[in-house]
Amino acid sequence: MFADLHLHSSFSDGTYSPEELAGYAARYGLGVVALTDHDSVEGCERMAAACLRRGVEFVPGTELTAELDGHELHLLGYYVDTRHPCLLHALAKFQEVRQNRIREMVGRLNRLNVPLAAEAVFALANCRAPGRPHVARALVQGGFCTNLDEAFERYLKKRRPAWVPKFKMSALEAVDLIHHAGGVAVLAHPGLNCVDDLIPDLVAAGMDGVECFHTKHSTATTEHYLLVAEQYGLLVTGGSDCHGMSKGKPLIGTIRLPCDYLPPLKARRCLRQAGLPQAAPAFAPAEPALIVFQ
Ligand code: AMP
Ligand code: ZN
Ligand code: FE
Ligand code: FE
Repeated sequence: MFADLHLHSSFSDGTYSPEELAGYAARYGLGVVALTDHDSVEGCERMAAACLRRGVEFVPGTELTAELDGHELHLLGYYVDTRHPCLLHALAKFQEVRQNRIREMVGRLNRLNVPLAAEAVFALANCRAPGRPHVARALVQGGFCTNLDEAFERYLKKRRPAWVPKFKMSALEAVDLIHHAGGVAVLAHPGLNCVDDLIPDLVAAGMDGVECFHTKHSTATTEHYLLVAEQYGLLVTGGSDCHGMSKGKPLIGTIRLPCDYLPPLKARRCLRQAGLPQAAPAFAPAEPALIVFQ
């Protein structure tokens, strides 16, 4: 039995719906999958139901955008309570900032004489956590670029003219938030972020694991992080980071994590849920902002 613990749906910048992801998981013989949308848990309920129908085990999750010492890093939160008010409050803030960032990027494009409308991006994204891939798709759809690569190269990549930096939560706060919502905090694709020097601080903050297996990790990178995990006593996870099709086929299932890695993750979940603080939460609960597009 195999797992793929890093998937994006149309609730962030993935192109498949939760139901389509569950369908592919069953077709590719995956026993366990996790949904890890950027700064969102909105797709988890639908994905849980779809996985149940398909006989696939589902792990609810999210991928939080965070920073430490000026470096961007992504933290996966597995088994978070997707209705936890503090988590929903924090995600609503992320989402509001993401929407404002889209308006800012579109403003920059307009000043570059690219007459793209923010509404076109929001209509295409149709989710609360829009990002650069949606702007790129809208640029292609509007005939302003011929493909997504061109959109990133010309406008959206870091330091290109329409790039706008993204709000990031402190990584230490993100670890706390994941724990507070009963989840397990795992450093996503460390090989892509050059964050090795930060690992001791993250471990000290209680980070639980590291994503050793990832589509963009070479064998050497994976082996390196397996050693790091052993050195710090961290859990090991892995996933494809599927956003849809890649090179003509769905990326889901291209990382096949042996299910032997699941019991330690579940044991940590029990530990985290048993250890939930009884005191007042660090993140004041409030109604998440409801922003409806179109
Ligand atoms: P954002 O969260 O809005 O900054 O967008 C980040 C997402 O954009 C990543 O998860 C990738 O899916 C995608 N992305 C980043 N750089 C590129 C690129 N050069 N080409 C295509 N997609 C990219
Ligand atoms: Zn993404
Ligand atoms: Fe990521
Ligand atoms: Fe991801």
